[in-house]
Amino acid sequence: MDDKIDRLKEIVVNSKQLVAFTGAGLSAESGIPTYRGTNGIWSKYDPAKYANVQYFLKDPSYYWRFFRDVRYPSLKQAQPSAAHYVLVELEKRGILTLVISQNIDGLHQMAGQSKVCELHGNSRQMKCMDCRNAFSMDKVYKQLEKELPPHCSCGGLLRPNVVFFGESLPQEALMEAWEAVEECDTFLVVGSSLVVYPAAQIPVRAKENGASLVIVNIDETPLDPMADLVIHKSASEVLSPIV
Ligand code: NAD
Ligand code: ZN
Repeated sequence: MDDKIDRLKEIVVNSKQLVAFTGAGLSAESGIPTYRGTNGIWSKYDPAKYANVQYFLKDPSYYWRFFRDVRYPSLKQAQPSAAHYVLVELEKRGILTLVISQNIDGLHQMAGQSKVCELHGNSRQMKCMDCRNAFSMDKVYKQLEKELPPHCSCGGLLRPNVVFFGESLPQEALMEAWEAVEECDTFLVVGSSLVVYPAAQIPVRAKENGASLVIVNIDETPLDPMADLVIHKSASEVLSPIV
């Protein structure tokens, strides 16, 4: 297995433009559970409900109770993992050009990463569904003591600034991701089951474009067979020796 980490080091050192593609597995080491695979937990809240737009519109209180009881406390205590900091270091060294993330926890930015493309939004930010005004999660959390689900002063319902299942991805973020993919020579997936579409199309395109595809994930992914290097270990265990 150490051979594989040496191989990864060699690929990284020889990259001119490395793009990282991160998923929930990267933040599992920061204490935020994944939906699937190793480190996934099923709490009393079901992601098929709290992460689904149809369900949110039918019963917004379900999301807001999940936010109050699970998401907010976990975002408040979460700190970036060693693997988050390795990606920051690769950016400082001029190797990494962009982190494309499916995560909605803001931990890349907290670690000091400056080039982050959030495909699924950010659950630390809230917005009014009518006037689009933005609110911090702390403010809305306090509001929940008095009002659940919470509303804006204009009367509109508040929602998290995330992409729910059933919604399309933000155009600007997608464009940024596709552009980076066209130019990169190494595409490094970290901690994603690669089953959520359309995000999982991005590594396929990178490979078709001639980039080396590396997958670091505890469990198998459907794209393992097309990758140049696959390491089934935890993100920090693999990335820490790289720098
Ligand atoms: P996923 O939950 O589908 O898969 C996570 C993968 O990470 C699994 O295959 C698992 O084997 C692997 N894994 C677990 N611990 C790991 C570790 N320490 N090191 C390396 N790999 C590890 O995650 P996904 O592919 O990102 O898709 C989930 C969707 O849910 C995304 O759209 C995302 O927006 C959302 N989500 C986000 C968060 C977050 O922001 N932290 C958490 C849960 C879900
Ligand atoms: Zn409003």
